[in-house]
Amino acid sequence: MTTKYGLPEEVKFCKRCVMSNQRPVSYPEFKHKPDRKAPTIHFDEDGICDACRYAEQKEQIDWQSREEQLLQLLDKYRRNDGQYDCIVPGSGGKDSAIAAHLLKYKYGMHPLTVTWPPIMYTDYGFQNWKNWIEVGGFDNESHKPNGRVQRLLTKLSIQNLLHPFQTFILGQKNLAPKVALRHQIPLVFYGENEAEYGNPIADNSTSLRDKSFYTTQHLNEIYLGGVSIPELQEKYDIDLVDLLPYLPADHQQLQAFPLEVHYLGYYLKWTPQEAYYYAVENTGFQARPFRTQGTYSKYNSIDDKIDDLHYYTTFMKFGIGRATYDASQEIRNGHVTREEGVALVHKYDGEFPDRYFREVMDYIGLDPEEFMELCDAARSPHLWEQVNGDWTLRHQVS
Ligand SMILES: [Zn+2]
Repeated sequence: MTTKYGLPEEVKFCKRCVMSNQRPVSYPEFKHKPDRKAPTIHFDEDGICDACRYAEQKEQIDWQSREEQLLQLLDKYRRNDGQYDCIVPGSGGKDSAIAAHLLKYKYGMHPLTVTWPPIMYTDYGFQNWKNWIEVGGFDNESHKPNGRVQRLLTKLSIQNLLHPFQTFILGQKNLAPKVALRHQIPLVFYGENEAEYGNPIADNSTSLRDKSFYTTQHLNEIYLGGVSIPELQEKYDIDLVDLLPYLPADHQQLQAFPLEVHYLGYYLKWTPQEAYYYAVENTGFQARPFRTQGTYSKYNSIDDKIDDLHYYTTFMKFGIGRATYDASQEIRNGHVTREEGVALVHKYDGEFPDRYFREVMDYIGLDPEEFMELCDAARSPHLWEQVNGDWTLRHQVS
């Protein structure tokens, strides 16, 4: 049977969490084209996914010696001359909140926080960002890109890739290194390493972020919304200056400046639930009083109205919705059992996110019916079948 996106033909579910082997692993966004073949998460011979194996390894880590390594790194860069000594990118969500707060108030660093705002702020997202700065107490630089261009690129990324969140991911990944270069701040700290959730385990053995995620030497290798830079300029009449916010830092500038990009989660044991409690306590973070559609949680990634749609599209493309991501992580952290996780996936995965749907479609100027047609066209036949006129997953976690 043919599969889309180069997905593995045989669908398997991890024996420990509820993740399936269809989950793509991190891949430089700006290389993403309609015909890309996504590398997917590795399962070992016992049927356990790399994310679960990494969670197991994490239990063996000597966190005290990791913290000592962190102290050495911070001692090397700490400044007391009134200048910033590090950058913490983020939205004021729980992870960036705890990262910035620990660095400034526990470790005596002088972070500049840097924000790539959501495409469409939720009220809670905007309030949490404000509280991060006001209650947490940080300087912040936000970079809001040209709205007309962002709407167009978001629409193209849906039409060409069914990937509504691409402009956000690109801006968010690329902004901090560029701000670091501009201000000559040599240290950037992200919170947790997304590789923990499924990249090859070797990626987690270093605290340094892979440079391929934020540099590239050639402009014509870069695609936004699945369209090349020259085509965006010619066909859509977009000025290069309006595309720059999405592009990686200049390769030559990066080579000339010794920038280090680290994950705090490499040095400190990081669990989402603890980050949540810490952020509530110290930076005025608030969960939403209502459940996020497509899952059961109230505090993960609640800043952007488009986020819910993003997970709906992963459900279409890979058969993996937001509840699968959330439950897998919580099983690994010991907060829910696998049996509970399976029930949560059956109950919430793939729920249609209608709360902001119309508003999002109006904003980017996409016909809701076209969106639904794009979703159906994105369903890989090895994952989906029609039963009595309804789309049904061929394989479900059990
Ligand atoms: Zn697993």
